[in-house]
Amino acid sequence: MSDRPFRIPESTLYAAEADEFDEFGSNDLPSYSDWRGTFYKVPWAVDEDAIREAGADVAIVGAPYDEGVSSRPGARFGPMAIRGAHVTSGSPWSWSIQAGVRPFDLLTVVDAGDAPVVPGRPERSLRVIHEKVRRVARAGAIPIVLGGDHSITYPSAAAVARVQDPATVGIVHFDAHADTGADQWGSLIGHGEPMRRLIEEGWVAGSNFVQVGLRGYWPDEDTFAWMRDQGFRWHTQVELEERGVEAVVDDAIAEALDGADRIYLSVDIDVVDPGMAPGTGTPESGGMLGRELLRAVRRIVGSVDLAGMDVVEVSPPYDHAEITAMLATNVVMEAISALAVRRG
Ligand code: MN
Ligand code: MN
Repeated sequence: MSDRPFRIPESTLYAAEADEFDEFGSNDLPSYSDWRGTFYKVPWAVDEDAIREAGADVAIVGAPYDEGVSSRPGARFGPMAIRGAHVTSGSPWSWSIQAGVRPFDLLTVVDAGDAPVVPGRPERSLRVIHEKVRRVARAGAIPIVLGGDHSITYPSAAAVARVQDPATVGIVHFDAHADTGADQWGSLIGHGEPMRRLIEEGWVAGSNFVQVGLRGYWPDEDTFAWMRDQGFRWHTQVELEERGVEAVVDDAIAEALDGADRIYLSVDIDVVDPGMAPGTGTPESGGMLGRELLRAVRRIVGSVDLAGMDVVEVSPPYDHAEITAMLATNVVMEAISALAVRRG
């Protein structure tokens, strides 16, 4: 043994014959290398014609807007952080262990860039988010919108409902908060009001609205009475604990499909416990586990006809070690993978 030579073997699989500069394509390189800025290095297809030309099944859209927050800001940096958080694989070759597919082989996914939001003009920002999502949906792609605070669900889900018409859209909404407030200090477009606006304007019927994960101390009983009058159905965090996530999610799927043709899925990352999703503006203690949310997203997207989706309220300045941004990235990946299984 002692006179046995030690040497570190060097791989010659690629480098021997190849020019090292061209040894790896952009998709083979690690996620931090050859940074393209898109979600999982999928190609850019920013305008409607490019999305249509690409034949995109899914388009990622950024909605970097956080002027609707009631407390801590920062979600305007969400789209950048979520796109940048695919630290483990981050390539369109990715294989999903959970779903057993290569989602990007089965689906054409593009990144449509961000809605052209500017600071200080909240109404305009919500209008351009609406128009951006509408163009993506009109081009035939399922929009997956990266928030942004939850205000963006109002223009985004309205755009999806508008394009789907005459088919009807229901909403499955994961959140610690119902977001059905009448107004926020007199403003109708805060992140506590988007679901009220969608109902009042008739984009979605209350009976096709299902909420999961509600907890904490807001909204009050008057708001819940209004929700009851509209036909809302909701499942609190306590119910998730008592009945188990699986049983509740199955009920939520059945309720969502009771009346609506297609589903818009809205995921407020604060549905997850702040211990697993600290980077958010209005955290509420005692929430879901990250893996419970990922499993629920797989199950829902695998069971319904998805028309659109958003992942909101990731606030990178409050995040630590990208925990929350990575969870949001995985929520999107679980949805894309489940969609690939369903369509593949
Ligand atoms: Mn919310
Ligand atoms: Mn919330």
